[in-house]
Amino acid sequence: MAFRSFSALSLLCFFCLTSAQAAVVENARTWRSPEYTRLVFDLNSTIEYTISTLANPDRVVIDLLDTQVVADFTNLDLSNTSIASINSSVLNKQDMQVVLQMRSKVDPRSFALGENEQYGNRLVIDLYDSKEEPKSAAPVVITSVNDIDLAKRDIVVAISAGHGGDDPGAIGISRLQEKHVVLAIAKEVQSRINSTPGYKAVMIRDGDYYVGLRTQIEIAHKHNADLFIAIHADAAERASANGATIYALSHNGATSEQASRLAQMENSTDLIGGVGSVSLVDKDEVLASVLLDMSMTASVATSLEIGNSLIASLGQTTKMRRTTVEQAAFVVLKSADIPSLLIESGYITNDADAKNLDSPRWRQKFADAVVEGITHWFYQRPPRGSLIAWQQANPQQPRLDVSYTVKRGDSLSELADQFGVTMTSLKFANEMDTSSIQVGQILTIPGTTLEIAAVFTEHTITRGETLSQIALTYSVTMASIRASNQLKSDTIRIGQVLKIPTS
Ligand SMILES: [Zn+2]
Repeated sequence: MAFRSFSALSLLCFFCLTSAQAAVVENARTWRSPEYTRLVFDLNSTIEYTISTLANPDRVVIDLLDTQVVADFTNLDLSNTSIASINSSVLNKQDMQVVLQMRSKVDPRSFALGENEQYGNRLVIDLYDSKEEPKSAAPVVITSVNDIDLAKRDIVVAISAGHGGDDPGAIGISRLQEKHVVLAIAKEVQSRINSTPGYKAVMIRDGDYYVGLRTQIEIAHKHNADLFIAIHADAAERASANGATIYALSHNGATSEQASRLAQMENSTDLIGGVGSVSLVDKDEVLASVLLDMSMTASVATSLEIGNSLIASLGQTTKMRRTTVEQAAFVVLKSADIPSLLIESGYITNDADAKNLDSPRWRQKFADAVVEGITHWFYQRPPRGSLIAWQQANPQQPRLDVSYTVKRGDSLSELADQFGVTMTSLKFANEMDTSSIQVGQILTIPGTTLEIAAVFTEHTITRGETLSQIALTYSVTMASIRASNQLKSDTIRIGQVLKIPTS
């Protein structure tokens, strides 16, 4: 006989108003996040239910009282979930029992959701992978940065693509979903940050799933993030509303009616998707937010500065709805000592903006500008212990500047990528105010990559030597010698001194 264990969580039961007619499970959906499999039942009304787990083999049993199942579970793609199969059967002629055969042990958490604009009544079951204790609702730990361990560390930018999973966010023109476009933008920002020396990106989500607020903040803290950016897309009933807006947290109410409405909207969608916020809310949450508030004043000021830097760079590629940083009480920006910004990248409900948001080319440009705004600010105020701070404190390092003639189709961001330098340092080295470059323009590429710039030896050419022999002698490529010496051909002359990169 299988032992039926009821954990504390499995006893959660929602006693809702019972309707005369049986409830119906009309549809089922699954999502996979790094930590759990989410199973959602779409219902025609509220239901009562219990959830329990069984071991050997691992199963989750969902009893739905006075309910019929018309959903076809065989259509569900369970391939990347922890569920092996789903079966349902009738109990007592009127109740349904749904049994999930699990691939491994899970800790189920569940909650019911009422109707909203996108969905009807839902029962949401999150099956947490049971490698460890399910995440307890411990207060968020405010970590201090250890400078010694982090010498020449990367500046860490946590990127949160808004919404995800069964929370699509705003739905725009041609059914464009906010959750998809903001993830695409976030990935562009990630790749640009990661290709910038001295920076590292941390993705809060990198797939189509929802990450709760508490977990978002935990992830940012776990990685000692220096900056947290949440990427969203706006929606408005007025189709003409357009442009990007940068938001920071405010303690004293919103700076505008618009900011206040938006905060309400984004906060409530976070509640819908955020598992912890609905069924597992507890006193610690309040305590945590008090702790957070205490250390947040400084980061709000910094957030505003970085926000202004973002507006300056974004303003060159995209229309800004506001040219100052808006402030409102966004829950998602409450990440304690980490400066945090929310970027509304445009209106998904506006024709031109939606076209942009849907365009990979535009998203690339937009991401470039975001990263430029970020690096520009950190260039002026690098955190202690970071590589960028170290580089600025050691300006005497040998630098290898290279000249480059702009070709048709080049963009400053691609050149920065190609040479492994930041756009900010490129603009700085060339005294440029904007990112626009012209064919034929000669750019100085600053040698900021220490590995390349710092280490080379000199070789004086003697009679009979060739470039290929020298390359062979030093185990380097001919191309690297050409680049280090800005050679236009392979012709060398006796007595000429060559720099040989030795890294
Ligand atoms: Zn949003």
